[in-house]
Formats: sequence, structure tokens, C-alpha cells
Amino acid sequence: MKNKTIFDRITDFTIAKDLQKNGLYPYFREIISEQHTEVFLKNRTAKKILMFGSNSYLGLTYHPRVKEASEAALRKYGTGCGGSRFLNGTLDLHVELENALANFVGKEEALLYSTGFMVNQGVLSTIVRKGDYILSDKFNHASIVDGCFLSSARMIRYSHNDMEELERKLKKISSEGAGVLVVTDGVFSMEGDIAKLADIAELCEKYSAMLMVDDAHSLGVLGKRGDGTASHFNVIDKVDLIMGTFSKSLASVGGFIAGEKDIIHFLKHNSRAHIFSASMPPSSAAAALEAVKIILEEPERIEKLWENTKRMKTGLEHIGFNLGDTETPIIPIIVGEMEKTFLMCKILEEEGIFVNPAAPPAVPPNRSLIRLSLMATHTDSQIDYALDKLENIGKKLGVL
Ligand code: PMP
Repeated sequence: MKNKTIFDRITDFTIAKDLQKNGLYPYFREIISEQHTEVFLKNRTAKKILMFGSNSYLGLTYHPRVKEASEAALRKYGTGCGGSRFLNGTLDLHVELENALANFVGKEEALLYSTGFMVNQGVLSTIVRKGDYILSDKFNHASIVDGCFLSSARMIRYSHNDMEELERKLKKISSEGAGVLVVTDGVFSMEGDIAKLADIAELCEKYSAMLMVDDAHSLGVLGKRGDGTASHFNVIDKVDLIMGTFSKSLASVGGFIAGEKDIIHFLKHNSRAHIFSASMPPSSAAAALEAVKIILEEPERIEKLWENTKRMKTGLEHIGFNLGDTETPIIPIIVGEMEKTFLMCKILEEEGIFVNPAAPPAVPPNRSLIRLSLMATHTDSQIDYALDKLENIGKKLGVL
């Protein structure tokens, strides 16, 4: 007879099925149109729904130039590369994109991975080894946590954005003489607050630690040219590794790490997630490359994103929602209870607004939230419509 442990674990997992039975299941909703400020859902084809859950912050996923560049690459290079970058899968287009990204974030070189998740896994597991330490903010993204586990280094988590605790831990580790890397999200993906990167950089300098920042939600959002958290704080030279993904402002899929030439050379020849996985499709690379060009050519998009963010945030504060410490286009409405969060999400969908719920383990227990995200292409009337509905529903559910 088969050992039942694994099968039991699967049959015991009922939480998602319960939500489906109650009609509150908010995941895997099928969209049948492009990622715009308004989309069509498969189960609701008669009427568009306002999109306030997209990470396409600058609205470039449907920019004509991005779509054309992607189509042209598909025609020229085909649908895939049939292998790893290491062997037969490197296109001139990949190298052009790497150069553009390195220039964009102000580093010597960059290296592509097929997703942002793979960047964090692939970089952390290669750069840090057994005997080293990783100091990681408690609110860092899951891909960072997984990268830390894969590395076999000792991962120590410090309280969210707590510089005193970080210094205490750095001091202790440095007295042991072990290698240490500090890693933080630039913009925290659930609650939209910003890492204290200037302080972290100073501590890393003081205690000779390597510093890596995850700029998934910062590119196209923070910095003088949308070039990220290090630029925002004017500490580009003090950050050793800048990680980015194409799945947000850069309108595609894929990711990169940027840093000094020697670090990138080391990763290129040692990082398993880079070496043993096929290179990103040409159409995705071309889309990201065009997105970077547009971000640099059209800074007014970033300005508009911030105007929209201000309009929404001021409106929500006026209504009386708890928005945590958000400082960016990611605006959490902290609900607390998980069931109420799912219910609010469902009612918002019925009222024509698409938002994402965040429940444990993505957020701490009793801190479930509705995650709104703004796009540069939202109009004032779309934001005002959402505010009106949010106020009514917030009152009805006692979320204010
Ligand atoms: N880091 C952060 C902070 C993220 O939010 C995400 C995506 N949710 C990733 C990394 C992974 O990026 P990708 O979607 O490209 O795999």
C-alpha cells in the first residue's frame, strides 16, 4: 500500500475549494482582452471592467511601438531560441537588451534570465554559499526567500525596514568574519512602501556587506528617469546588484541582474538558472527593449503615474481607509480579515472594478488587504468612479 502522507496533504488542502463553493474565489480570473485600464473578463463579456490590479504601471503592454517591436522580432527570429543563452540561444537582440538595461540602471553590465523569479533564485544561490550570511527584509518577495534557501547560506530576516536591527545583525556577523549580503525589495510589492536604501547602503559600506536591491516595482516608477530605487536615493554606486523584471513597467516577461563586469561574468558562468534554462523568446526581449526606450523618451508617463497615484491615494485617505505606509502606485487597503477581503474583492468585481486580494502567506496573518495599483494611463474619471464604489462598499462592509 502506498504511503498516504503526500496524498493526504493534497486532499487536506480545502481552503481554495471552500472559496470556490462560496463564490468568493478571486484567482485565475480569465481576461480575454489586452492588459489595459479596462479589460473584458470571460465570465462577463457584456461589459468591460476597470483594471486596478495590473502591474503594467506605465501602460506599455499595449503601446503600439512595443507591440510592433515584438511582432517584428517574432517575424525575424521566430518564436523561440531552442536552447540556453550559454550555448545556441544567444541573439544579438539579447545582448542589445542587456546593454540597454545596464545603461538604464547605471551599471557596467547586465544579464538576462527568463523571469524575475529566476533572477532572484539564480543570483542568490550562486553569489552566496555555505558559511556566508544573507540578511533579508521580512517583507521581501517570495523569490528572494527561495533564492536564500537554495544558496545554503544562513538566512537571517530583519524586521521590515528596521535599520537598528539590521545594524545589530551586521555588527554581530562581521565580528565572525563571514561573507554577508543584504537584500531588499526597492518598493515592497504588497504594501507599496520604499526600502530605506540610502541607510542600508551606508550600513553595507560600514560592515563591508554586498548589497542587492529588487527593483521589480521600482523601474518605470522611482528615480529621475524611472531608473529605480538606487537612483531615487542617489546611491547607484553603493548598490552592488540591481535586479529588475520585465513583468511590470517593462511590458513583457523576463528579468535581469545588473552590476560590475566581474560579478556578471561570474554569474554568466556559474548561475544554474541562467545556464540550464532556455533563453527568453525574441518577442519578449524586443518588447522589453522598446519599453526601456519609451520610458527614457516619454518621461511624462512617469509624471502621469504619480499624478494618478496622488489622486487615488488622497481620495482613499479622505474616505478613511487604512493605507499602511504606501508611498508608491501600489496602494493597499488594509482589511484585516481574509474572508472580508475576498468578499470586498468579489463585490468590487460585480461593481465593475478588478482588484487583487492579498492574503497570508503573501501578507502577515490578520493583515489581508486589497491591493490597488495605478497605471499612467488611468483617466481621472476612472479613478473617481473607483473611489465612489470603494467608499460605498467600504462603508457597507465596515472596512473604513
Ligand atoms: N520580485 C518582486 C518584488 C516581485 O513582485 C516579482 C513579481 N511578482 C518578482 C520579483 C518576480 O518577477 P517575475 O514576475 O518576472 O517572475
